[in-house]
Amino acid sequence: MWILLRTLLLLGLVFWLARAVWRWLRPPVPPVRQQEQSAHTLSRCSRCGTLIPHEMVLWHQEKPFCSSTCRDR
Ligand SMILES: [Zn+2]
Repeated sequence: MWILLRTLLLLGLVFWLARAVWRWLRPPVPPVRQQEQSAHTLSRCSRCGTLIPHEMVLWHQEKPFCSSTCRDR
C-alpha cells in the first residue's frame, strides 16, 4: 500500500514537472495582443486605394471596398 502511494506521488510530481517544462518551452501568446493586431489591420479599397479599418470593409466578389459608392461604381 505504501509503495502504491509513493508511486502515485512520484507520477504526480513527474506530470507536474513535465507540464512546467512544457509551459517554459512554449509560452502562451497573450490574447490581448491578438485582438489589438486584428483591430489595426487595414485593407486597401480596390477602387480608390483608400486604407480602411478591417471592421469597416465592404466585401464584394472577394474584393475590399471603402464605401458603397466605390463598390457600385
Ligand atoms: Zn474606395
